[in-house]
Amino acid sequence: MLEDKNQEKTALSSLGEFGLINYLTKNFGTYHSTTIKGVGDDAAVLAPTEKETVITTDLLVEGIHFDLSYVPLKHLGYKAVMVNLSDVYAMNASASQITVSIAVSNRFPLEALEALYAGIQLACDTYKIDLIGGDTTSSTKGMLLSITAIGHAKKEEIVYRNGAKPTDLIVVSGDLGGAYLGLQVLEREKEVFKVNPQNQPDLDSYTYIIERQLKPEARKDIPKLLKELNVKPTAMIDISDGLSSEIMHICTNSKAGCKLYEDKFPLDPQVISTCEEFNIDATMVALSGGEDYELLFTIPVGDFDKVKGNPNLSVIGHITEEQQGMNLVTRSGQELPLQAQGWNSFQE
Ligand code: ADP
Ligand code: MG
Repeated sequence: MLEDKNQEKTALSSLGEFGLINYLTKNFGTYHSTTIKGVGDDAAVLAPTEKETVITTDLLVEGIHFDLSYVPLKHLGYKAVMVNLSDVYAMNASASQITVSIAVSNRFPLEALEALYAGIQLACDTYKIDLIGGDTTSSTKGMLLSITAIGHAKKEEIVYRNGAKPTDLIVVSGDLGGAYLGLQVLEREKEVFKVNPQNQPDLDSYTYIIERQLKPEARKDIPKLLKELNVKPTAMIDISDGLSSEIMHICTNSKAGCKLYEDKFPLDPQVISTCEEFNIDATMVALSGGEDYELLFTIPVGDFDKVKGNPNLSVIGHITEEQQGMNLVTRSGQELPLQAQGWNSFQE
């Protein structure tokens, strides 16, 4: 829980801005020889490489993107890095550096920022990322966290959203819907806690989906796996807003249509059982859930044998001509038009 009530608190002002940054960043490692100068000067300095550079930024706002009543700050730091790395990997690039900018109100003590940076550092150490700078300022209310990630890929390796062609197969890594359901469980426990603060929630049967929400992992392994399989996606995107809106981005950018097959969606058993408990449709959750940070991509149909049976990958549909539209094929064989939030006019 936020600013752990029993912990000692140290006011941020007691360190001064530069002392604070020094303190928070002193234990970060350097993994890349391209990092010439990291934290500590007016700007970071990177050595040029022969590869192309990819850059991506995400801004997270308290109350909009995260709720500190159930998101521990260490997890927030970790996830904020993952969200950015996921975008780099979705370009089929490798990630190497980040900058971190924060705005905090005086309700946050030093210990809160220490927890945040412990999560950022765990992410950097696990994914071999150099923290090379950022900015620190105050806010009147709440916390803002903005991370920028830098990565590299050979020109011919970069995968955009616009290369999908009719007959290409649509493939997704991992499984879908877990992060959304984890959030539903956390929201429910928050309401229970408001009514009865003594209640100790039993979350044992939700560990996987809560982890998917609080501690997602960016799929660094997938670009590597695809290279090993000798498969170059024709288009790729990461799933931050849900399968439906992401495949629509690929189709719109590629001027193509698609067919997704409901019975092919990869679902964890915990997703299925929690959907039953909440009385929501698992297909709907897979299509609209969001925050799974899996990679969604298209490959030439001739590469089917290379991905077939791979435990990390599921073929869930194929690309069609643009005029055929973007559709979901249900278990009963019905075709329903996709929309950004699930599908249109679902009638039983
Ligand atoms: P300036 O006044 O030139 O913006 P700062 O005092 O803000 O300099 O930053 C000093 C150094 O600390 C710079 O290298 C900057 O990138 C880094 N830095 C500032 N804030 C953060 C932060 N929240 N996380 C990581 N590095 C930071
Ligand atoms: Mg600054």
